Amino acid sequence: MRSLLASILLTLAGPLAAAELKVATLHPLITDLAKQVGGERVEIIDLIGRNGDPHHFEPSPEDLQRAADAPLYLASGMGMESYLDSLREILGNKAEIVEVGKDLPSIEGKCDHEGHDHGDHEHAVDPHWWHSIDLFRRATTITADALAKADPPGAETYKRNATAYRAKLDELERWTRKEIARIPRDKRHLATAHAAFGYFCKDHGFEPIPVQGVNREQMPDPKKLAALIAELKEHQVGAIFPEKESNPKILQALTKDTGIQLGEALIADGSTAESYEAMIRHNVSAIVAGLAK
Ligand SMILES: [Zn+2]
Repeated sequence: MRSLLASILLTLAGPLAAAELKVATLHPLITDLAKQVGGERVEIIDLIGRNGDPHHFEPSPEDLQRAADAPLYLASGMGMESYLDSLREILGNKAEIVEVGKDLPSIEGKCDHEGHDHGDHEHAVDPHWWHSIDLFRRATTITADALAKADPPGAETYKRNATAYRAKLDELERWTRKEIARIPRDKRHLATAHAAFGYFCKDHGFEPIPVQGVNREQMPDPKKLAALIAELKEHQVGAIFPEKESNPKILQALTKDTGIQLGEALIADGSTAESYEAMIRHNVSAIVAGLAK
């Protein structure tokens, strides 16, 4: 009787005792990546949440309380989380912050300010690196290394999980290339709301035509708008894509002015996506539906 009870208690205790490491995450796609690589061994404290906007999120004192015993924070990096210096100061030596994208090869962000000062010029680099599957694959290894450093006995597990996830990304990349191949080279102009798809464009030979800047605040002035309309018409762009996160009025105005159709909303910053893979599949399908004809 006693041993039966003991084994029931052990079973009940099983899942609770499973997590060896607590990790706080600051970007929705990094939350998914940490889950993929951490598996059962890691408890994710998802501070930003699935619908969080990484351009504007900043952890509150309550968030930090929730993550109080996490020795590791994962951010996407490349300037996306502009509050990291102050967060580092608050955390002191209680926790380490790893910017997963920090050492990935970056591309320059399109900054449309032309002299006037907006005070948000930290985006000299385009921080939306996750739209390159190749970079997300490299980020998988970086994440496994970060987890292993925080939890050395788990190193083998993280390595194994990372290998399995990279194989999934290989498959996703093959599917993406096959789908994109349906869009003729001269149709590869990607007109979007904010400048989030530079890495995707670079990987697949598209010319990005963002209406807003790297942050959504930057709207084109009348001169820029006229140039934008001319560019869209010149290239006979097939569709203009809003975002699930933002569908500014200016896009509807543009479609009206140019007669170009509004495409299906893309996922730019990872918010609202069920997973990284789901985001890529959704975006690629939407882009192919809008441009492959
Ligand atoms: Zn963005």
